[in-house]
Amino acid sequence: MSKLVLPPEIAAEVSPATLLVRGGATRSAHEETCEALFLTSGFVYGTAAEAEAAFANEGSRYVYSRYRNPTVTMFEERLRLLEGAEACRGTASGMAAVFTALACKVRAGDRVVASRALFGSCAYILTDLLPRWGVETVLVDGRDLSAWEAAVAPGVKLTFCESPSNPAMDIIDIAEVARLTHRAGGILVVDNVFATPILQKPLALGADIVVYSATKHIDGQGRALGGAILASEKYVKEDLGTFYRHTGPSLSPFNAWLLLKGLETLELRVERQCRTALAIAQFLETHAKVPRVIYPGLPSHPQYELARRQMSAGGTVVAFDIAGDKAACFRFLDALRLVDISNNLGDAKSIITHPATTTHSRLKPEARAELGISDGLVRLSAGLEAEADLLRDLDRALAQV
Ligand SMILES: *Cc1c(COP(=O)(O)O)cnc(C)c1O
Repeated sequence: MSKLVLPPEIAAEVSPATLLVRGGATRSAHEETCEALFLTSGFVYGTAAEAEAAFANEGSRYVYSRYRNPTVTMFEERLRLLEGAEACRGTASGMAAVFTALACKVRAGDRVVASRALFGSCAYILTDLLPRWGVETVLVDGRDLSAWEAAVAPGVKLTFCESPSNPAMDIIDIAEVARLTHRAGGILVVDNVFATPILQKPLALGADIVVYSATKHIDGQGRALGGAILASEKYVKEDLGTFYRHTGPSLSPFNAWLLLKGLETLELRVERQCRTALAIAQFLETHAKVPRVIYPGLPSHPQYELARRQMSAGGTVVAFDIAGDKAACFRFLDALRLVDISNNLGDAKSIITHPATTTHSRLKPEARAELGISDGLVRLSAGLEAEADLLRDLDRALAQV
């Protein structure tokens, strides 16, 4: 039978760096060094009575990989220890995490309040899908606490936000939104993708549920989709558990194995990528062809103080405007020789996106303007390349504007 590599009493006293390498791992009878990949859909029973007992005693052993799988459990446990949550469920993608976390909780007639600056697919779930099922969704300017207060006042089942937001880097005061949500009888769900579990701990700030796209920094090497929901045991028992078992948002064991390996280097990568992002932001701030830089780690960010209070660094993503029109912006993007044009983020490879024509192209121009997404805005995710090489690449491409 398998045994836990890091006993709970040791896990409780070690640092995140140690948890990321050893947390949650179990060793099989073969005493392997690397976490084992249990690429299996099912599990066998020695006798019919064992099968009967397994079904009678839910969770007592592995039954079927849609419910639980040993490699997926290792990933869930490692992330749970890092986040400081009571429970974690891995999901097939970040969107499976967002959808499952919300859908298992709401009923027709419920009210949901969310920050307007949302990842496109999150906006679809909140403003298209949930209303179809009789759930009322209200969107507010996430930076405006009085707007949150007014929107949750009639009672609220759930609030949802992303901080920093994509791509305009709005910072939401998680502790205050949690307080307002709880006072109105609801729970707060935070999409912590941009901040990563290294820089920001929404549960410690008062949030009830944290969701991740593990596709981003957790894999961080462009290989696999995945996601996770972290919350209390009570929420998993009463809301999430049954919904998850029967609707199948489950994480593939193979992807869980990749994500486990990704977690081992997460802190190293995020620290390095934050340093590079800050250097890029500082460089761009002094550049004549860049009228605006938005980075939560720069004192020029309108919510710099709040960002410092709830995040330990400014993050790995920098947004900035290129002087001129869309054509000038495209000339800059096309002139980059190291940084890839792509819509992912959190990757080892530096990636740049033009939100107005890609990730946010479905929005009406007025809605984009409201979110600060101009035709000149680009979003750069700093990778692991040498800082000097990236600065040279940006400088050369800016010369083409
Ligand atoms: C990418 C992303 C998601 C969705 O994650 P997938 O793994 O692509 O499904 C959700 N929220 C934010 C903030 C993201 O950046």
